[in-house]
Amino acid sequence: MLLWGKLMSTNKTGHIRLTSHPGHRAPGRFPIVWGAPTARERGPVIGTVTSSADRNAIGAHGGSYSVYRALAVSSGALNPIARPDLTNTSPAIDIGPYPQWADAERIVSLDPWGHRIAQDFHEEIAEGVDIRPTIAVTKARLTIPEFTSKAWGVKADGEIVHESGDIAVTKAAIDPVWYLPGIARRFAITEDRLRRTLFEQTGGAYPELVTRPDLSIFLPPIGGITLYIFGDPAALGDRKHSITCRVHDECNGSDVFGSDICTCRPYLVHGIAECVKEAQRGGAGLIVYNRKEGRALGEVTKFLVYNARKRQEGGDQAATYFERTECVAGVQDARFQQLMPDVLHWLGITRIDRFVSMSNMKYDAIAGSGIEIGERVSIPEGLVPPDAQVEIEAKKAAGYFTPDHVPSTDELKSVVGRKLEEF
Ligand SMILES: [Zn+2]
Repeated sequence: MLLWGKLMSTNKTGHIRLTSHPGHRAPGRFPIVWGAPTARERGPVIGTVTSSADRNAIGAHGGSYSVYRALAVSSGALNPIARPDLTNTSPAIDIGPYPQWADAERIVSLDPWGHRIAQDFHEEIAEGVDIRPTIAVTKARLTIPEFTSKAWGVKADGEIVHESGDIAVTKAAIDPVWYLPGIARRFAITEDRLRRTLFEQTGGAYPELVTRPDLSIFLPPIGGITLYIFGDPAALGDRKHSITCRVHDECNGSDVFGSDICTCRPYLVHGIAECVKEAQRGGAGLIVYNRKEGRALGEVTKFLVYNARKRQEGGDQAATYFERTECVAGVQDARFQQLMPDVLHWLGITRIDRFVSMSNMKYDAIAGSGIEIGERVSIPEGLVPPDAQVEIEAKKAAGYFTPDHVPSTDELKSVVGRKLEEF
């Protein structure tokens, strides 16, 4: 506290600036023209909390991590006016620009220029304007324990898969940047209604949603997206190359801990294997990993639903799989795939040759956004874990893609999972 006391007294953070009253404002120095063809014409997204005159976005950078930043500042560990030193942080490879970046309706939930901040707004940053990247692109090697079994067919080639079995990838982390007029149109609601609901459902945390209609950008406090790209990332935006893609929504229990109540990790690993093989054939593979835990209802809701499923009359049945979620959460699913295709357009993708997903909602969202989909690749039967038959059969009956038999209502009743006493 003492450490930054002097700094704070000379900085705007020293007094409380309420955002609940609009006041009189001159037009900002950094207007945003969403969908403009270049970064400079579009303008930088500025979510700074220390220079209100430059600020042109509602919310703060880092999504939910802005709360941890607040703890770091309040405990004196972080200087509130510290600026990131972006030396050597530029993307490990170039991505774009693609024509889709200049289409204000095509991409509305991320900043297509978000990884190029240091390059496109070099002068403003040097001048001290607090402009931050919302996308970072780097390289890594993956070790997937499953692939030590020959059954997966992932073989070393010295380039995509090293002799050690490690897999070379390019990966990108993307924070959400919402263009509110475009988000409202995606959901076929008015911008006023969207702003008001966001304001109310976040406990009034962002008053500017309702007091500053001139600010059209919102940095929402939600998880982002991670991309894992196999092969040459430039191939994704080039129709001469074949593309395999899995869009995967986070499931910590299965993805990380191997919980066997769902098919998430096995299907993810199957997707990675298919992506690797596509890259080895000269195409490119893409895993999109969305932080939307428990159908974007969160893990607390998810575990409550597990209990409700296991304890209901007749046991954990495929026949009542979706109903139990709705009883606890009020909806069956809050992932709403309308915004999901944005990241595919950011990568320049116009066709997915092999789509490793059975979800009809994901398929419809992608195809509806103008991206062609070729073959749909379902999870091989042998990869469905013992307690996950309930989920997979319920999903097939609800309209998920399957080349196999679609279970009838009567057949669903006979698919019953483990009881709580049997763990
Ligand atoms: Zn899962």
